[in-house]
Amino acid sequence: MAFDLKEHPHRRFNPLTRQWVLVSPHRTQRPWLGQVETVADEKQPAYDPACYMCPGNTRAAGARNPDYKTTLVFDNDYPALLPETPQGNIDVNDLLVAKSEAGICRVICFSPRHDLTIARMSLEELRPVMDLWAEQSQELGSREFVNYVQVFENRGAMMGASNPHPHCQIWGSDSVPDEPAKEQLAQQEYQSTRNSCLLCDYLALERQRGERIVFENQLFTVLAPFWAIWPFETLVLARQHIGSLTDLIGDQRDALADALKRLTTRYDHLFETSFPYSMGFHQTPTDGKHQEWHLHAHFYPPLLRSATVRKFMVGYEMLGTPQRDITAESAAARLREMKEI
Ligand SMILES: [Zn+2]
Ligand SMILES: [Zn+2]
Ligand SMILES: [Zn+2]
Repeated sequence: MAFDLKEHPHRRFNPLTRQWVLVSPHRTQRPWLGQVETVADEKQPAYDPACYMCPGNTRAAGARNPDYKTTLVFDNDYPALLPETPQGNIDVNDLLVAKSEAGICRVICFSPRHDLTIARMSLEELRPVMDLWAEQSQELGSREFVNYVQVFENRGAMMGASNPHPHCQIWGSDSVPDEPAKEQLAQQEYQSTRNSCLLCDYLALERQRGERIVFENQLFTVLAPFWAIWPFETLVLARQHIGSLTDLIGDQRDALADALKRLTTRYDHLFETSFPYSMGFHQTPTDGKHQEWHLHAHFYPPLLRSATVRKFMVGYEMLGTPQRDITAESAAARLREMKEI
């Protein structure tokens, strides 16, 4: 019997993080006994007087939002990081190790409308969001104490998003956080041993094979990565070696808006629900020392087989290694079938 990725349990390697995922394709038909979650009421008002992100409303710390028409950015009222943090280190026998961390946390509202999502916004409405991601990455990254800028969106109550108002966060930090730090090491080593970009090479390989590609536009390819952990995880990759959001110019930003809108629309159709996810960009650190980075976005959606049945990262996943049943290839095939309107 020959080893077959479609039939036999196997491990797949993530060359970006150097972690493995256990894939169990033989198990996809087993009966599902997992938790059935109730579907939250999706219908939101266009304006919510109790929302701290809607125009004209007062926020927790007392500031009042302007009557904004496109996007809004403000410092998080309860920031995880503070710019004025004193520098310090603790190291007791390499066992009790701590470092001070300075940073800045902001919130970006995509729209004054409380009831929209990326999927429901027009390309014209999305473009200012792309512009703001680039501007804010530039602005935060130019600060002395900021060496990495992380843009991320938590969408849906299932992912713990406290407010349905379309928004994301942007955090600038002194250190490069763990996930991009792992990817940086892998990209650096690949670059130095092969004199080539890991993600440029990976993308070329995936485009040859085709089976994990979801769709492409003029600049971006969206695919289910070979090593995906979440059932419908995707990777959004530029087909040019672009390092960061600030390097995207002109219609490249429209292309990003188009890719994100089309992807989230397909997601919404998958289980006919406003699809929850955590997404974010990985990009070049702003310490001026790195050229090996290839800009990309990860989408990590929790849903497994319906609007109410999600994947949990528990048990073997917490104690051993992440595990999945449906393969990245079949997830890509499902997403390819979805409508974009
Ligand atoms: Zn709102
Ligand atoms: Zn590249
Ligand atoms: Zn990444």
